[in-house]
Amino acid sequence: MHRGQIRVTAGHTRPREARSSRDAVVHDLRDVECRSTRAVMHDYLDRRLPARRVRRFESHMDGCPRCIRAFIDARQTAWTRKAAARNRSWSWSG
Ligand SMILES: [Zn+2]
Repeated sequence: MHRGQIRVTAGHTRPREARSSRDAVVHDLRDVECRSTRAVMHDYLDRRLPARRVRRFESHMDGCPRCIRAFIDARQTAWTRKAAARNRSWSWSG
């Protein structure tokens, strides 16, 4: 390895048109799926998500590490919030 040499290839950008249209569609669909998954994350945590939507949510989470990461963060926030609420009322159920 020659550390003194900077590789110029890192700056190489592939034009959008070069990708096959099918790849672009798959990417877009995934992006939409990610966005809608994250949009309902708090509803899911609050158990306000309809069962049909839950299944879709969970199956997306199954294959999307980025959404799992976001979910862990959201859950942490929700737990902190709920813990604060429980400290006031102590209403445990089940
Ligand atoms: Zn995702």
